[in-house]
Order: sequence, then structure tokens, then C-alpha cells
Amino acid sequence: MLELRDVAVTYRSASGDVPAVRGVSLGLAQGEALGLAGESGSGKSTLAMALLRLLPREAEVSGRILLDGEDVREMNWGRLRAVRWASASIVFQGAQHALNPVRRIGDQIAEPLLVHGMATPAQARRKAAELLERVGLPAWRARGYSHELSGGQRQRVMIAMALACSPRLIIADEPTTALDVMIQAQVLDLVRSLIVEDATSLIMISHDLSVLAAMCDRLAVMYAGRVVEAGPSREVFAAARHPYSRALAAAFPTVGDPESRLRPRGLGGDPPDPAHPPTGCSFHPRCPVAVPACAGADVELWPAGDRHTAACVHVRTGQAGPETAAVHDPLPEATP
Ligand code: ADP
Ligand code: MG
Repeated sequence: MLELRDVAVTYRSASGDVPAVRGVSLGLAQGEALGLAGESGSGKSTLAMALLRLLPREAEVSGRILLDGEDVREMNWGRLRAVRWASASIVFQGAQHALNPVRRIGDQIAEPLLVHGMATPAQARRKAAELLERVGLPAWRARGYSHELSGGQRQRVMIAMALACSPRLIIADEPTTALDVMIQAQVLDLVRSLIVEDATSLIMISHDLSVLAAMCDRLAVMYAGRVVEAGPSREVFAAARHPYSRALAAAFPTVGDPESRLRPRGLGGDPPDPAHPPTGCSFHPRCPVAVPACAGADVELWPAGDRHTAACVHVRTGQAGPETAAVHDPLPEATP
């Protein structure tokens, strides 16, 4: 249902261009859940916003973004508005703060149905009550206001809003990062069960590979604006072929560990400044298995299994180098 072909996004600014997303090609089937992983700044949100053309004016997008075969980049505003709620909807990180404090919750959930002419006011009210119950809140909450709810409850309201028009694709951008660990797990379970019930497609974004592996059929790992590995969740999490994916997999031994969010455990150094990515493989300065060739030319995604690709010279040359390392062995700290 969704196909990205060679998608690139560059932010133009006075202080120079920032190539935030570079040459991303990905596909998503109806009912499939894709996890998008990577440290902060790797381009995940930029890619998600490009899918629904939600980027600011200074962002220049190239490549093809096909939703049911139709290029999102070529849609007129009327078409795009219809697509934004009815075909695909997005739940942002910290979205709970986007609720309007002076409007009743039920009215806010009903709004997209009314705007898109999908229901009469009475039907929309009933549907809002139903949606609240689906996300685990009592229907009477529809008459209340957002300040009466906890952070987790507000995020449930945002999920109800995203579900209102029965979209075929939901994009959830770190929907639980602002919540505490217990609530995170509940909200993620909820999202998972809702998309399975409706056979909705899902793009779930997180820095936490273990969360994504538990929820998604497939994973794509981004580093410095590029997809460096993509494949079936179990393989990418438990038998990653790219050293960066391996570092991410080892970084989050416990689901939602807040400490490891700031710095993946065992991975030294910082992600590169996207305005000045290193030459060659962007990961080579932090890579524990880099060889001199890595600083030369960048590596394309290379077959690493069935519907599994990885952009690493060791995969390309088939050397028994990094693959033999135990999956969850902590990587050595990079020498400063
Ligand atoms: P992620 O969601 O993976 O944390 P983002 O997509 O938010 O990453 O950001 C990718 C890169 O693009 C970052 O380096 C960020 O600073 C940069 N960026 C994001 N928005 C803008 C903007 N409006 N102008 C310039 N650079 C931006
Ligand atoms: Mg983000």
C-alpha cells in the first residue's frame, strides 16, 4: 500500500543544507507493521512527515512516495486533506499536548469525522464514545476536558482520534516516549491490538529496537538519514547484520529503559552532524569492525537474507567478521 522510492529530504537553511533523509526505499503491505529505529537525529520524523507532506516549507523532498500507487507529492490540497485522515493518520511524540484544553474530548475525536463528511453530528458523537471505549477509556470521558486526564489517558485520546476515520495506515512517531514505562507498555499493547483487529498498516517509530521488534513484522534501521538495515523483525533484532543495528539491539536490554535512550549502551561517540556526514560509510567513525575501505566509498544496501538487506562492507564481501560476534555482547567502547 505504501512504497518509497529513493526518497530524500534536505532542509534548506541560511547556515547551509541539512540532508536529513538520503535515498530511502521501503515498502509496506496492507496490514503490515514496520518499525523505524535509529538514534535521535537519524531522520525518522522527517521521513514520517514527508509521507503526509507535513514538512515545513524549507524542506525539499525528492523521490517517489506512493500511497496505493498515487504519488503523495503530486496530490492537490483537497486530495491531500482527504488522505491525511481517511487513508493515513499520524500520532506524534508528546501528541497529548496537542489536545485543545477548552474543547470537550468527544468533540475533538468527532471532528475529523465531521470535517470529512463521514458522519452526522449524532453519529459522530456515538462514534467518539465507541472509540473512547476501544482505547480503554469510559465513554463519559467524552464530556470532559484534557486537563482531567493523565498523560497516558491523553495519549489514548490521541490514538482514538487517529482511528476515527478508520485509516488504512497509522504512523506512530515515538507515541509513548513521554510516558512512564508501565504506561508505555499498555499504550503499545493497545496500538498493537487495534491495528491487528482492523488489519491497519502501521509505521511505528522508536529509538528502542526491542519495543519495535516486539510489535512489528519488519524493521528498518536508520543512521544519518539512510536506511542501513531492513528485514524481518526477529532477524534484525536477534541476528542483525549491520554493526549499528547490533549496537541498537544490545543497547535496550529492557523495554523502555529510560537511561539507554540518551546513549545506547556500549556504543561510543555521537551520531554525526547531518549537515556534515563523514565520507564513506557514515557509521565508520563509531564502528567496532570498520576496515580502511569503510572511510572510502559508502556501501549500498546489500542482500543479507530473505527480504533482508544491510549496508555494510562485511555483508557485501561475505567475510565472517562481524556476523560471528555474539549478538548481545556489548560492543567495545570506541577509543576516544
Ligand atoms: P529523528 O526523528 O530521527 O530524531 P529528525 O527527522 O527529527 O530525526 O531530524 C533529522 C535531522 O534533521 C536532525 O539533524 C535535525 O536537526 C534536522 N532537522 C529537523 N528539522 C529541521 C528543520 N526544520 N530545519 C533544519 N534541520 C532540521
Ligand atoms: Mg523524531
